[in-house]
Amino acid sequence: MTGGRAALAAALLLVSALPATAHDRLGVAWHPARPRVGDVAWLHVKGVPDDATVEGSVGGRSLAFFPYAGGQAALVGLDLDTTPGAQPWRLAVVEAGRPPRARSGWIRLRRRAFPVEQLTLPRAQVDLDSPTEQRAIAETRRLTRLYRTITPERLWRGRFTRPVAGTEPGTGFGARRIINGQPRSPHGGIDYTAPRGTPVVAANSGRIALVADFFFPGRLVVLDHGLGLYTLYFHLDAVAVGEGERVERGQTLGSVGSTGRATGPHLHFGAQVGGARVDPAALLGLTLLD
Ligand SMILES: [Zn+2]
Repeated sequence: MTGGRAALAAALLLVSALPATAHDRLGVAWHPARPRVGDVAWLHVKGVPDDATVEGSVGGRSLAFFPYAGGQAALVGLDLDTTPGAQPWRLAVVEAGRPPRARSGWIRLRRRAFPVEQLTLPRAQVDLDSPTEQRAIAETRRLTRLYRTITPERLWRGRFTRPVAGTEPGTGFGARRIINGQPRSPHGGIDYTAPRGTPVVAANSGRIALVADFFFPGRLVVLDHGLGLYTLYFHLDAVAVGEGERVERGQTLGSVGSTGRATGPHLHFGAQVGGARVDPAALLGLTLLD
């Protein structure tokens, strides 16, 4: 047999070993395979060139893909208020010189039990007067708009690091809060208790999207990592960076304080993916590393 014929025979053998439509289908892997409510998961679409256009959504939220390990990948934010159970996903790949390919399916989202926290705070911090309430609503809207802004470049690389030194895990993600006897919105981040003045560092590289002093979050920094991923640092005592500045992982952003509505010095660390509030601990444990 000539070399060419041997290669053809090998190719035919390979094709016959696969399901009939395998050559049109996309290799799609979920990490983790069974994500939980509040997780940062990621989708890996294998065998797709860097210059292909990959679009997709999970539960109606759009995904932002980037080249990764011989294919493309996207982070998937599974908001802490997502209903557990089956969520639909879909993908479409467009590349030069071949017909568009599409895939869709269902991902089963595992339930997660969130703690219930009873808090007692001074009435002035809970029952707001009208101007303060208007201020807090406007600030929340401004943050929500920012988190939904998708910077088209990926600014982060490699693992995410804790924003304060230590080994104690942050607490309270997703906690259903009852403040002075009234149910309030769930806690969207994790809290690290630390002495006032403890340095707060960037969890990964990115660009400072916002430095502000808001009613509930106090002095805050929002860090844009690109492609819809943001990390948030609230209740800071001091801020060491300015809006628009590029920062590296581990760079000091400011220091721990108790500004805004806080019962004592701590860092509130939050993460958002495509407008979904996700567990920052899941971001710190992300298995997508390059
Ligand atoms: Zn908090």
